[in-house]
Amino acid sequence: MPPAQKVAREFMRAAAGFRNTVKIISGSRTYAEQDALYAIGRTIQTNKSPVTKAKGGQSNHNFGLAWDVGIFEAAGRYMDGSKKGDEKAYADLAGLVKPVVANLEWGGDWTSFVDPPHYQLATGSKATAQVRALFESGQPMF
Ligand SMILES: [Zn+2]
Repeated sequence: MPPAQKVAREFMRAAAGFRNTVKIISGSRTYAEQDALYAIGRTIQTNKSPVTKAKGGQSNHNFGLAWDVGIFEAAGRYMDGSKKGDEKAYADLAGLVKPVVANLEWGGDWTSFVDPPHYQLATGSKATAQVRALFESGQPMF
C-alpha cells in the first residue's frame, strides 16, 4: 500500500471519533485539474479568493500524497467556512487526529497559505520539486 494511502486510512479511523462527520472530498488530481483550480480567483471566477497557491505539478495532490476533507453538521450542511464555528471545527479535528496519526502534515499549520481542510503525508525536508522529479520518473518518493 502506498504510504499516503496508509496514513489517509489511519487519519479516517481517527476522524471517526470526531463529533461531526468527516469525509475526504478531494484526493489525487491531474496537473490539468490543478491548473483549473489555480485559475479560480485569478483568471476565472475572479469574484472568489484563490483556493490554492499551487499550479499543476506543484501540489502534493498531483503526486497522490494529499487529501482534503469536508466536515458536515448533523443536519448535513457542509461546513465550508461560511458560518461561525466552521473554522473551529477544522482546528478541533486537527487537534484530535494529529497526536495519533504519524507522518501526517496539516495545511492549517502552514504559514504561507493556511489550508485547514488539507492533510498530506509529511514530505519531511523534501522540496516539492524533488517530490515531483521522483513522481515523474516513477521512482519511490519515500
Ligand atoms: Zn489540499
